[in-house]
Amino acid sequence: MDAKQPAWFAAGFPHVWPPYSQMKTAAPPLAVERTEGVRIYLEDGRALIDGIASWWTACHGYNHPHIRQAVIRQLEIMPHVMFGGLAHAPALTLAARLAKLLPDDLTRVFFSDSGSVAVEVAMKMALQFWLNRGEHGRTKFVAFRDGYHGDTLGTMAVCDPGEGMHSLFSGLLPPQAMLNLPTDAASIATFDDYLDRNAGKIAGMLVEPLIQGAGGMIFHDPEVLRRLRAAADRHGLILIFDEIFTGFGRTGTMFACEAAGVVPDIVTLSKALTGGTMALAATVATGRIFDGFLSDDPGHALMHGPTFMANALACAAANASLDLFEREPRLRQVAEIEVGLREQLGPLAKVGGIKDVRVTGAVGVVQIDRLNDPKALQRACAEAGIWVRPFRDIVYLTPSFTIGADDLERLTGTLRKVLAA
Ligand code: PMP
Repeated sequence: MDAKQPAWFAAGFPHVWPPYSQMKTAAPPLAVERTEGVRIYLEDGRALIDGIASWWTACHGYNHPHIRQAVIRQLEIMPHVMFGGLAHAPALTLAARLAKLLPDDLTRVFFSDSGSVAVEVAMKMALQFWLNRGEHGRTKFVAFRDGYHGDTLGTMAVCDPGEGMHSLFSGLLPPQAMLNLPTDAASIATFDDYLDRNAGKIAGMLVEPLIQGAGGMIFHDPEVLRRLRAAADRHGLILIFDEIFTGFGRTGTMFACEAAGVVPDIVTLSKALTGGTMALAATVATGRIFDGFLSDDPGHALMHGPTFMANALACAAANASLDLFEREPRLRQVAEIEVGLREQLGPLAKVGGIKDVRVTGAVGVVQIDRLNDPKALQRACAEAGIWVRPFRDIVYLTPSFTIGADDLERLTGTLRKVLAA
């Protein structure tokens, strides 16, 4: 163990199982002392500019005083109470605010505690919607290559099977229809043909709108979403938008679906929902989906209820986060970051070994011809003062929306320098 590591690290690290790590070879994680604004302060005295806002959550930067105060106030009143048979102001206020913010009839909010569970709930809603109507043949989902929807068993089945993360399990998961996103003539024809032949077996269709995130930060045109909506309408399928990454301004509008002018039947939210402070997720359904569960038969109820569902502290944080979207110019900041990322990452496109540079909203992606060792690139970036998490053949920036122009330049400039080295 590194002599510079604090005692708590040496005592505790042998007892944790870190995420996505081959522990035989993985370097130990960096020990963090605290966070503030867009910076992560390490125990060894260094400060890193966070280029990825803690897995895309900390949209207002770290430790925003408004969220902190809201959580402290809620902690004094009631940190948590079970949501089964009881209700409280933070959750109901948040549900009403989300219903108002989301387009059209997306009005029924089911709270849970992680993105994967929010997607599981969406999938259960879609499957049971049909079962409740006596249609027992609609048991599959259409999902898309390069898509990612979570790490739990149900969601793994709708992730890209070959994208690496879950490929070991592919034979064990219930098979789903894994199609290419209908983006060009050939993929549109295959998609239409598949649905023409199989729609009666399909409960729903899942997509990450505008950006397929963890599957490689791959962008698609809003037109694709309109095509999915039209196909879902044509075949009576439930359309699920997984906005766990894109929701809350990341792509330039409050929700990515707005850019396409398309309303899904179910949307999943998490990540930036609490401004990156606490675990909370939401699965929001339209009135039509909700009504499909109204019945004199108790068996038609949605049987899901996480213990920490609608945790009051997390809901208070989420309400405070929404206050900040109302009071502070977040979407304007996203637009400014988009311009900055284009200007500052754009020149990399001409550098040898760089395959592509793409930007949408506050998401900047640099795709590298051969990124042999993403961990080594991460270490080099950390040595140079920025925190990023390259994977596969990309390194991406998804900073907090509150990042100042100077820090954005520091972030992109450092990345440019490391990639040129
Ligand atoms: N869906 C999408 C689009 C995601 O990006 C993620 C997380 N990266 C998830 C679902 C799963 O969320 P969680 O990690 O909170 O379970």
